Amino acid sequence: MKLREWQEKLSEKVIQALRQNFLVALQAPTGSGKTIFALHVGFKVKERLIFVVRTHNQFFPVYRELKTYYSDKDLAFIIGKSSACLYTSEDVDPQDIYCNICSAYKGLTYKLTIKDPPSIFLNKLKEEGKSANFCPYYSLLDSVNYAHVIIMTYPYLFFPWLRDLLNIDFSKYIIVIDEAHNIDNISSIDEKRLSKRSLDQAISQARSNEARRILEKLKNTTSKLIHPDEKNILVSDISELRLSDDEIRILEDEYSDIRQEMIKSGKISKNYIGNILRFLYSIQDERIKVFSYSDSLVAKYIISSDFINILNDENLTFMLMSGTMPPLDYLKNIIGINRREIIYIDVEKAVKSKVSGSYECFISLDVTSAYALRSEEMAKKYASYLLKIFYNSSLHVMAVFPSYEFMNKVSRHLSNINYIKETPDTSIEEVMISIKDTKSLIMGIARGKLSEGVELVSNGRSLISDVIVAGIPFPPVDDYLKIRADAISKMLKKDISDELIRIQALISVKQSIGRAIRSPNDKATVWLLDKRFNSLWWKRELNCLNARKIKL
Ligand code: SF4
Repeated sequence: MKLREWQEKLSEKVIQALRQNFLVALQAPTGSGKTIFALHVGFKVKERLIFVVRTHNQFFPVYRELKTYYSDKDLAFIIGKSSACLYTSEDVDPQDIYCNICSAYKGLTYKLTIKDPPSIFLNKLKEEGKSANFCPYYSLLDSVNYAHVIIMTYPYLFFPWLRDLLNIDFSKYIIVIDEAHNIDNISSIDEKRLSKRSLDQAISQARSNEARRILEKLKNTTSKLIHPDEKNILVSDISELRLSDDEIRILEDEYSDIRQEMIKSGKISKNYIGNILRFLYSIQDERIKVFSYSDSLVAKYIISSDFINILNDENLTFMLMSGTMPPLDYLKNIIGINRREIIYIDVEKAVKSKVSGSYECFISLDVTSAYALRSEEMAKKYASYLLKIFYNSSLHVMAVFPSYEFMNKVSRHLSNINYIKETPDTSIEEVMISIKDTKSLIMGIARGKLSEGVELVSNGRSLISDVIVAGIPFPPVDDYLKIRADAISKMLKKDISDELIRIQALISVKQSIGRAIRSPNDKATVWLLDKRFNSLWWKRELNCLNARKIKL
């Protein structure tokens, strides 16, 4: 395997750091070859590696690089019960699957050899499991014991109850955390929701009048507490949501009966009473606060430290990688990584050159998405910019907005172009189909599915030539953000609110730019449409010190 120049230059430094159990944080842009670098340095230090990724889609690049360059190494991957079970639909919560009475409750007795991409392999394994009556989920779990590389999603590392299930000695592995900027919001993976809709579904699932009466009462209380706004509003008094022990027991009995019946019938679907019970259990925990968000109640942790603490275990060897890694101070102070030694490497700064594709920046001086100035006039100006850029672009254009509300306001002034607007239900497949034959303007929101998830490439190169950042995507300063900032500020004895907001906006802008840079050959144009980008901090952080200034 031939390493790229930056990989050659930095290998030894990273290997030495990992040998001493330092935590390595690697900031390297998309398309620079981070995965192969992690495999290279990892295998120099230990025989075994774990890759921790955000979504199942991210299993594939690890599989591809391993098969190409380390075909002698065994691979294992862990996929949640709801995807691997023989009897479920995807929306089932894994905790609702009652394996103990399942006739397939055993893994394979022979060693799994993964020769196909994980998604294809899983489908084949499920087919085999159905005919030979074994469980794909437990077979995959067993396979971690002999693999050189294990791929898993965040919960299996960060949630102690799932980590324990794996029963592996993590100190024997180099643990690589991909897209590590996401660990800032790790606790959100474990948030619990309660909505009128889920209560309605639970009421129709319940069999006894008593259970239905309890759920109706809960629905009335929930209706009084929820608000349609798309922001977190603290529910300060949750006493009415608490049920008596007897009421909980009645729901638990119903839940258990439904669980067992589903297994016996060989068809496991969503158990709504289970969802409601988990919400009710979670609000007993005093570290959790309840918010209203868009017609639901959401119970969530304010601080992620219980999940993040594993990164502070000095016996474990971690390498964090991201194209949008938060700065070192943020990792330490706000995320809470407080190991003795952290080595932070910004690859492009360390080797003093670009290691992936490049982009040219433009900053507009006559528009802003500042909330008080979001007039109809301002929306028209943004639309004029979008049209001009679109007509002059060579390929598709990605435009990222701070919110749905602002995106909708601007899109009303667009006409005669092929555009796609993200909604909460938009799927990547839908976008792919819609842009297949026509140049398109793809409009998404910051921290949404399109600005962070989508990879539109052909022959290894991005299909997006221009990225428009239509306003600075500061996160909404709602009750959740304020309470979180207060809690961290108290711990650190200094106010971190500004840093928290700024860095989240920066990560979001960099993620948007990353949609157009998928390989070293990509060249993109980045349009920073907000006069507030014309500050030294933004220009320096975005590598846009030579940005050209524009006006309509
Ligand atoms: S197949 Fe059976 S044992 Fe396996 S996850 Fe599903 S219910 Fe559990």
